Amino acid sequence: MKRPYNFSAGPAAIPDDVLQSAAAEMLNWHDSGMSVMEMSHRGKEFGQIYEEAQADLRELLAVPEHFKLLFMQGGGLGENAFVPMNLSRGETADFVVTGSWSQKSAKEAKRYCTVHEAANTESSGFTTLQNPATWQLSTKPAYVHICSNETIHGVEYQELPDLKSLGCDAPLVMDCSSHIASRPVDWSRVGLAFAGAQKNLGPAGLTLVVVREDLLDRALPTTPSAFTYKTVADNQSMYNTPPTYAIYIAGLVFKWLKHQGGITAIEAQNLIKSTLLYDTIDRSSLYINRVEKQSRSRMNVPFFLRDERLNDTFLTDAKSRQLLHLKGHKSVGGMRASIYNAMPLQGVQALVSYLQDFEAQHA
Ligand SMILES: *Cc1c(COP(=O)(O)O)cnc(C)c1O
Repeated sequence: MKRPYNFSAGPAAIPDDVLQSAAAEMLNWHDSGMSVMEMSHRGKEFGQIYEEAQADLRELLAVPEHFKLLFMQGGGLGENAFVPMNLSRGETADFVVTGSWSQKSAKEAKRYCTVHEAANTESSGFTTLQNPATWQLSTKPAYVHICSNETIHGVEYQELPDLKSLGCDAPLVMDCSSHIASRPVDWSRVGLAFAGAQKNLGPAGLTLVVVREDLLDRALPTTPSAFTYKTVADNQSMYNTPPTYAIYIAGLVFKWLKHQGGITAIEAQNLIKSTLLYDTIDRSSLYINRVEKQSRSRMNVPFFLRDERLNDTFLTDAKSRQLLHLKGHKSVGGMRASIYNAMPLQGVQALVSYLQDFEAQHA
């Protein structure tokens, strides 16, 4: 069976090979006589799945030893609260607002600390990223929050800000939910990174937190134990029952990524895919992407039809060509193609052919 191409922003496509492995092992994982869903999280079988997932992810992302990898729950929105609870000490945290997600993070943090907006690009319609040198950082923020890839507005940092060079020694916190594992990370610039798994790592329900060890001792006393990073770290993410099946699928995704050649190889693929799509949009007179070129996301490509009356026809015809979920986020309108790691080049080529055929037909 040939499956359609799924351009959903999340939960998003998972590699076919991963789904096939999971299907083959569904009733009986490695002769254990159990499905992974039925295993004790403290048993030796799940222990092996967990250890391999941790080791593979650390290797893939080249995460240094002085960072902990936490497998949590609660999603990106949960982390919008857990980060200020764990890192702010109730003081001031700085936020760089570059789209819906960082805006949401800032709003939630206000419940736990003082929020200072160091920059806000809303006046550009969230189509730009300011040079970090122009950020108005506060004197001694507890941390500086960015969203390194804005899933809705399609804006992505091509290089992480170097806070030290800006004279700020606060840790950088990044919400990298929608581009984690799509490109290498310069960990020397990062204090904490979090990501919901449902875009690029696996199924919903698992949240990855990568946190520098020296940041583990700052939690507000009211932080729930199950969401206190130190408690989670001290218990190898098993203080309470972790999302075992989601960890298992993410582990298969990590093995798939290694098989593709790791993060540099997948980054090269992502560049080819996104360049092909942006070039097609830029060359057409029907489609437009308004994000400044140097800040365009390789993962989420929002675009508009210049004649919006064609929107419904565009989506219906796309579906008949097996191209699913191209409708833009309701807050922005238009279209959006999310082309995460799991989207094969053939999927983007099929989309590009469709864009060209549709334009020719409606010229
Ligand atoms: C999808 C997404 C989230 C939302 O996370 P939930 O798991 O739904 O809480 C947060 N931040 C970014 C950047 C996202 O893309």
